[in-house]
Amino acid sequence: MQTRVEIADFENWGVAAGEAAKVLAAGEVVAVPTETVYGLAALAFNTEAVAKVFEAKERPSFDPLIVHLAGIRDLRRVAVMPEGIEGVVRQLAEAFWPGPLTLVLPKHEDVPDLVTSGLPTVAVRVSKHEIMRRLAKELGPIAAPSANRFGRISPTSARAVMSELEGRIPLIIDGGACSDGLESTIVAVEEGEKRPTLRLLRPGPVTREELRKFGRVVKAGRVTDDRPEAPGTLESHYAPIVPVLLFDKPEEFEPEEGRNYALLSYRGDPKDGYLDRHAWTRVEVLSPGKGKLAEAAVRFFFALRALDTEGIDAIVAEPVSDVGIGSAIMDRLRRAAARQS
Ligand code: AMP
Ligand code: MG
Repeated sequence: MQTRVEIADFENWGVAAGEAAKVLAAGEVVAVPTETVYGLAALAFNTEAVAKVFEAKERPSFDPLIVHLAGIRDLRRVAVMPEGIEGVVRQLAEAFWPGPLTLVLPKHEDVPDLVTSGLPTVAVRVSKHEIMRRLAKELGPIAAPSANRFGRISPTSARAVMSELEGRIPLIIDGGACSDGLESTIVAVEEGEKRPTLRLLRPGPVTREELRKFGRVVKAGRVTDDRPEAPGTLESHYAPIVPVLLFDKPEEFEPEEGRNYALLSYRGDPKDGYLDRHAWTRVEVLSPGKGKLAEAAVRFFFALRALDTEGIDAIVAEPVSDVGIGSAIMDRLRRAAARQS
């Protein structure tokens, strides 16, 4: 299969969106930009189309997809809302949609089990990206997980999607770099005793601090040792092919003779103790200078991908501050590093 790329720039925007709609309506899949990462889209109510998403990604069927809506009004097409959570769902949607917050809610029976991996819940969000919203408005709810092969780094550019899925999908819409750069925050909304419970299944651009206003935020647990509450957040996720070594203390890094190391640095500041410790084969700096976490988030997957190159034996990663969106970056870094240990 040949993979076409349509550029969704100012002039070609309408044409690109029209092409994407045509392909989706025909029951095929399309890679579409969102503010978080690129998604691999299919019509959520078309089981055969959804099956093509799993096939292209080599995604196991136990890992459910996120469903994109045009707006809060479409919520009732895919979810049912018990009275106890209705109010808080509305508040969260009004505060964060369109935006990088995914809500896990009791599922409507019309949503195919393949989309939710047989779970009684469905994950939904409204993207800030106009292309995704327009497609959902025109065609109805759209299932779209990240457009990478299973277990690999999420793509934040059309080129990254190409390197993951070339020859496996018919069309990529190139809308430039993703403005948030990390996957959405996922929260399961549940009834609580006094306040609703917000179970944080995946940290992301909408931070724990921001969510606290709306309910009691609790951490996701594990159903069993090897089955996390949010499927697809296994330790082995987000891992490049090259091993990642995460050091909380720079002085603990001991290079082995004759090996090539790349450095994933937060600020690129020699005072942080990393930069001149070793003759790095390659260095990527997430946010040069003072270090801005939002900028680091945008560049994170991009940088990880750039360092995941032949000839490099390991990527040495420096931690970023574990607050706000920094917590989401650290979550991805720890998972990437966990794979090798
Ligand atoms: P992706 O869009 O590729 O980041 O993948 C979607 C992720 O959303 C999955 O890997 C799950 O972690 C999560 N997810 C989707 N549906 C549910 C659900 N019903 N319950 C819990 N987590 C979900
Ligand atoms: Mg993913």
